Amino acid sequence: MSQISPTVMDGRALAAQIRQSLKEETEYMKKVGVEPKLATILVGDDPASKVYLTSKHNAAAEVGIISENHKLLGTASEEELVAQIQALNSDLTVNGILLQLPLPSHLDGRKMVEQIAPAKDVDGLTSANMGLLMYGQASLMPCTPRGVMELLHHYKVPIAGSRAVIINRSTLVGKPLIHMLLAEDATVTVCHSKSRDLLSITRQGDILISAVGRRPSFTLTRDMVREGATVIDVAMNRVGGKLVGDVDYENVSKKASFITPVPGGVGPMTVVMLMENTLIAAAKQHNLKEASVLQ
Ligand code: NAP
Repeated sequence: MSQISPTVMDGRALAAQIRQSLKEETEYMKKVGVEPKLATILVGDDPASKVYLTSKHNAAAEVGIISENHKLLGTASEEELVAQIQALNSDLTVNGILLQLPLPSHLDGRKMVEQIAPAKDVDGLTSANMGLLMYGQASLMPCTPRGVMELLHHYKVPIAGSRAVIINRSTLVGKPLIHMLLAEDATVTVCHSKSRDLLSITRQGDILISAVGRRPSFTLTRDMVREGATVIDVAMNRVGGKLVGDVDYENVSKKASFITPVPGGVGPMTVVMLMENTLIAAAKQHNLKEASVLQ
């Protein structure tokens, strides 16, 4: 069995590079009188959600985007949350709204996301923006799949004509990725928990994207990977207090030609794509046709 040394797809470095160019874009917007602003909403006290939100607000500060968090009690009613979202929809100083998921179980996340004005939906999860994605016309697209596509582009991984296998069919990851990869002429196969004979499918992937998040019961092992494949690990699992992905990194990296680490792969890209979406939303709302995020 041949052993090759893969190119590590460094999401942390690429995200830093993109943040720098977004910072310049924010400076340009401020010069023409637009102050980009992101509003986040946190319902309850979920510790993981708080960590994710902190990294989003830190990234916003670095890029020069004004950001504010609106905190609701974990017992907040649907009416209270809808009122909060509607207040932000009609606040002309707010360009982007992010509702941190998951919500407490008494609230319907899907229904609440739908309350966000599509023009401010910087997570790209409303049915309006998802529908536009299917037509190849979306400007606000989900951040994690966009981050995956940016990594593929940056590392010049051939997409057109290649076989892409996604292990995930969620609205957050797998479903938007299908359309993004199809739009770039990949042949896309989607697997999930009911897929039979997973190994025979994943071994066909020139690009293999795993987002299961059930470690250790699910681990993407070396035998599931085609020689020379590009392996993108989206998942985040806590195992023994350590953050790991789905992929048996040490062994799979001996077979892959490109691979993302966890942490430091897709995670930082997700956050920086949220920043880019906020600037896209601001530029569109203010009709800044010459903004580079709209080119
Ligand atoms: P999810 O909704 O639970 O989706 C998991 C997917 O994995 C589902 O499609 C599920 O199939 C499939 N699956 C479960 N067990 C499987 C098995 N044994 N074999 C094959 N497929 C299996 O979770 P999600 O929100 O999409 O997130 C997935 C992972 O990505 C999590 O670890 C999450 O933390 C991570 N994530 C990371 C980022 C980032 O920025 N890095 C962002 C978002 C999510 P069914 O549909 O049949 O249940």
